[in-house]
Parts: sequence; structure tokens; C-alpha cells
Amino acid sequence: MDLVIGNASVRSPRHAGDRHWIGISGGTIAAISDSALDGATVLDAQGGLVTESFVNAHMHLDKVYTLDRVGDDAINAYRGAGMGGALSAIDIASAVKDSYDESWIEPNARVAVLEAVRHGVRHILAFADVDTKAQLAGVRPLLRLREEFRGIVDLHVVAFPQDGLLRDEGAEDLVREAVHLGADVVGGIPWLEATDADAREHVRRMCALAAQSRRRVAMLVDDAGDPGLRTTQMLAEELIAHDLIGRGIANHARALGLYPQPTLLRLIELARRAGLGFVSDPHTGPLHLPVGQLVAAGIPVALGQDDIEDAYYPYGQHNMVEVAFLSAHILGMLDAAGTALVLDLVTTRAADVLGIRGHRLEIGGNADLVVHGEASERRVLARQDPPRYVIASGRLVATNSATTTWHVAVAE
Ligand SMILES: [Zn+2]
Repeated sequence: MDLVIGNASVRSPRHAGDRHWIGISGGTIAAISDSALDGATVLDAQGGLVTESFVNAHMHLDKVYTLDRVGDDAINAYRGAGMGGALSAIDIASAVKDSYDESWIEPNARVAVLEAVRHGVRHILAFADVDTKAQLAGVRPLLRLREEFRGIVDLHVVAFPQDGLLRDEGAEDLVREAVHLGADVVGGIPWLEATDADAREHVRRMCALAAQSRRRVAMLVDDAGDPGLRTTQMLAEELIAHDLIGRGIANHARALGLYPQPTLLRLIELARRAGLGFVSDPHTGPLHLPVGQLVAAGIPVALGQDDIEDAYYPYGQHNMVEVAFLSAHILGMLDAAGTALVLDLVTTRAADVLGIRGHRLEIGGNADLVVHGEASERRVLARQDPPRYVIASGRLVATNSATTTWHVAVAE
């Protein structure tokens, strides 16, 4: 074995309290044993829980740490009136792109990528604004960072027309150019177009581009407090029409939280046919996808960080345990089953949504693992500490430690 993790706890309740040895060879999990394994390097987990690395299935990576450039107006507009003002928030937030420049975007994004690695994030669905204001200044740095960090944290770069397609004439050509430059995923935000016909056209053109360029599709759909929005349905229909079944992701989809049950049940059936996955970020808005119902219906769902200190959200550490922790509260998933589910939604289930194969702690699975300082799922959620060890592609890439120095006489 190249690398062995010893004295580890695993998530299976059947093995609660048992110690395990996980053997890694050539970037793959080669053995999981109840007795000690030998390896070139052996890490002692000291009873800590080992899980799959984290997957951040939704991240506006070109806009991190820009809140001070735009102020609080967009945050208030996005969240206000039951998300009735979400569209005006996007217009306010676009001010940041008046001074869009790769010279500050790249260092900002790099800090967020390093934070991801430190917190054991292995994959990021990274949206870059591609529109007539941003031009290609957002996507270019992300493509460079993708090459630099490949195998440590993989960036799945989305060419994202944040201000619309028909609403922002010229954006479509730029999205095509970004895909030509190497963007991995075709984006979209159809719900903000002026009419349903325009929204349909937006979805249709981006799905056609994805089919033609053999890319996946990830769109921000129905992201406002309006139960009449139907762009998730349009996305599912166009995925089927363009032979993109299983290759689409619906992000946000908050309006589904307001749908009458019959409408939601029909959409769930359509999503199943389209192989459509969903990503929710319940902490960044007052309205959210009905995550529990979609999971119960067998639809692939993930949680995402969404934003870090930008026009829409003032916090965020790129710590997916924090995202899971916040979601557990908002979604009412605080029992043992809920705790396990929110962890799945930022690890294995999130990998499924992104189409990443082998992201499982099992023999033959990818050696993308984190060793937590705590032994149980509940304690991991309660503490939200960065993992003790971060392993990517079978290599140790980061070690975290925390120490407190006491300056008073206390017994620990
Ligand atoms: Zn978002």
C-alpha cells in the first residue's frame, strides 16, 4: 500500500466503535480491514471518522470576497419580500463587473480554492460569469486554476450567463467562446428572462450548445419567490429533447418550495425521466428546494456553498460541514438520519449530481478521503473543524491541527 489510514471509524452503524485500516494504492482504495495494514506511509486516525472528501456542487468562484466592492443592497434585495426582489438583486450585484479584472479575480479565487483544499473539498462546480460586462475575465482565471489544482481539487468550470441570454445580447457568443476555451459545463439562468417564451429559448439554445459540444448543463432555475416559475420543467424537457438525459443540473430551484403538491409531483416525475439532479443552498436565501421530498422520491440532490462573501451572502469558509450544519437546521434534519443525510448531500450524493464516478469509501473507490478529528457524524457536524488529514488522488495533501494555549490554571 502507498498509504494506510489506521485506527479509523467509518460511517456504517454496523461497525460503530470498530477500528478500521484503509489501504490506498495507486489512487484507489485497495483494502478496508479490521486489522492493521502495512504501507509506505501510515496515518493514525486515532479513532477519527473517515469519509469521502467533500463535493461543493454550486459555487460562484469568480465573485468570492467581493462584498466590500458592492455593499449590502443586493443581499437585502435578494432576501427581501420572500425573494420577490431576487431579479433586482442580480442587477445590483452586476455592478461588481464594472471593474472586473483578472488581476484581482484570480487571487481571490485562489484563496477560496485553498480554503476548499484545507477543508477537504475535492470537487467544485465553479460558476464563472460570462456576459457582456464580465466578458471572459471571470472564466479565464478559473480555467487556469483548474489546471493548477487538478487532482487536488477539481474545478468543473461552468460558463454562466449570469445576466441572461436574450436579456443580455451578446452573452451567447461569449458563452460559446468560453466553451471553446475549455469550460466544462454550459450554464444558464432562464428564469430571469422577460417572458416564458424567452426563458424556453434560453434553455433550448444552451442545451443545444451542450449537446453539440458534449458538455453537461448546469442552470440556475426558478430562483425567486414566485410559484408560477416553470424553468426547471423547461430544463428537464429540453434535456430530453437534446438527448442529454442524466447530464443536467438544476441549481437553486427555490420556487419549487412554493409549488402546490400536484405541480411538484408532476415535476418530480419529469425530472426522473430527464435524469435531472438538483443542488440546494438553503443558507443563502429565505426560500429553498423541498430537499427531503426530492430525496425521498429518489432524485439526486446535493447541497452547495453557493457564495463566499459576495453580493448575495456575507459569510462562508468553503467548509462543506458548515453548509451541512446550516442546512440541517433549515431543513429540519437534526436527528441521526438527518445528520447522515446532510453529510451524504455534501459527499456521495453531491458526486452523483455532478456525474463523478467512484466517489465512495469502498474497495475500488477513489482514494479521495478526509480523516476527521471526531469519531461520529454528529460530532463532525457539531464541531465543523477542518479534517485532520486531507487525502486527494491517493496522496496526503493537507494536515490541519488546532491548539489552545491556556494562560490560566485549568484541568483538561
Ligand atoms: Zn448561486
